[in-house]
Amino acid sequence: MKEGDSETTLRSNIEAARTIVNTVKTTLGPLGRDKLLMDSGGNTIVTNDGATILRELDVSHPTGKMIIECSQTQENECYDGTTTATVLAGELLTNSEALLNKGLHPNVVCKGYHDAASMAIKFLEEIAYTHANTPIATTRQNPITLEDIARTAITGKTVDASIDDVAKLCVQAVEKAGSADKVKVLCLPGGSLSNSYLFNGAIVNKDLVHDAEIDGEHNIILLNTGLEAQKTEENIQVQLDMQGYTEFKQSSKDDLLKQAKTIVEHLPNGGIVFIRDGALDHVVAYLKKNGIHVIRRLPESTMRALSATLGIQAAQNPSDIECAAVGRVLREKHHDVYYQFVSGKVDSDQSTLVLRGATTTTLDEIERGFDDALGVVSLVMNGDKIVAGGGSAFAAMAHLVRSEAASATGRSQMAIEAFADSLEIIPATIAENGGQDPLDCILALRHKIKGGYTDFGPDLENEGITNMWDLGVVEPMSLIRQAVLSATEVTTSILKIDDMIAKRGE
Ligand code: ADP
Ligand code: MG
Repeated sequence: MKEGDSETTLRSNIEAARTIVNTVKTTLGPLGRDKLLMDSGGNTIVTNDGATILRELDVSHPTGKMIIECSQTQENECYDGTTTATVLAGELLTNSEALLNKGLHPNVVCKGYHDAASMAIKFLEEIAYTHANTPIATTRQNPITLEDIARTAITGKTVDASIDDVAKLCVQAVEKAGSADKVKVLCLPGGSLSNSYLFNGAIVNKDLVHDAEIDGEHNIILLNTGLEAQKTEENIQVQLDMQGYTEFKQSSKDDLLKQAKTIVEHLPNGGIVFIRDGALDHVVAYLKKNGIHVIRRLPESTMRALSATLGIQAAQNPSDIECAAVGRVLREKHHDVYYQFVSGKVDSDQSTLVLRGATTTTLDEIERGFDDALGVVSLVMNGDKIVAGGGSAFAAMAHLVRSEAASATGRSQMAIEAFADSLEIIPATIAENGGQDPLDCILALRHKIKGGYTDFGPDLENEGITNMWDLGVVEPMSLIRQAVLSATEVTTSILKIDDMIAKRGE
């Protein structure tokens, strides 16, 4: 290999990674712009969400892919902060190039970056507050709430008009479900965001086999099987004459009718039966004659949601039915699809966030905003600490890391300083995307931090900088910590590559 090849590889890798970062940089912060993504089939997505943009990009360069992975890790761990992690990685790479130009070895840069990241995170933990103990800001009467966390995550995601209602809805949904992963979301195009609500119960997106008006209270049975001929596990061949075949068919028909009769016995005044598998038409017709509506072929998750909502177990077959439950059912049609909204008498933890929006495109973006907000609320509700947002924590970490740099020996000191400079890219970019001068913002923040204020960030309404607690712009600490960790990790991994070799396909 020629002398200098490894350097060329490194520089082109850095360039490729930075190109990817630049595609999302202008989306950072509440005034970040949106991207319109389009595939060859003409399908479009309009989004401001870093992880979504990166996921949809057609990237072939390996280091570009590493940046995308970094944003995915951030999303998987903390739901939000994907653009932050990506932009930080881009800046760390840019600054590492300057260090390489000055003659630093990539390994020295990596060591300095790792040391600086540990210092930054240690300091971050010191400036974080527990949820019950956040500082009351100067101009704000109320303490910080979970709604503020939700609002910070969702600002800029096409929901500005009803942001307070949206934030409340997010908190209610997570409080009801216990964690973000358990919150079910249903997007129904039509109406506006302010028509969104939390439905306490299960939503079934299958229709009745026979069309009927069913709105109201019903006796309900859940059946975790089908009302059709059972398939046997064994592969048996049986030869029957015509009479034998007719008898065989009749006996299975009789058997199914017997099962249907059992259902009728449990629902003497009619009702609804929700069935996991299929139900033969003549069985459905028999039930219908007895005033029983059938909804069949339901997914396992829907059966579980119905069971929790109604407070009854789904029977494994009709002879196991213990009792019917009483529930309210509303049948609604949205865009040619019928949904049954089922609520029970018992107060269960089942709930679904029903999101409404004018178009499918805006609704998709709203759903992504909700995903982020539900996630961060869930983190804090489950014990994560809180820090001020707007990039203030990054500016504060930069100050500390810079002041500690001098205690490091040798050239890694320069890498530690470069790391501190890189951290400032977050408030700088938020300010820049808001139409302000990034340099002025950084200088003003440094001045404030020197005076002991670690919670100032860009004031996007009135220019300059302001206290983030006053605005209620706050975020979970683990989001910031993960962004620093992922960005450091991906940067040092890229810096360690000195050669790229084509490998044999599998
Ligand atoms: P990410 O994908 O990293 O979450 P976003 O585009 O969602 O990127 O922007 C998040 C950043 O915007 C966070 O640093 C957050 O604190 C900041 N932010 C949110 N609301 C405000 C606000 N009102 N003023 C200043 N910064 C804000
Ligand atoms: Mg965000």
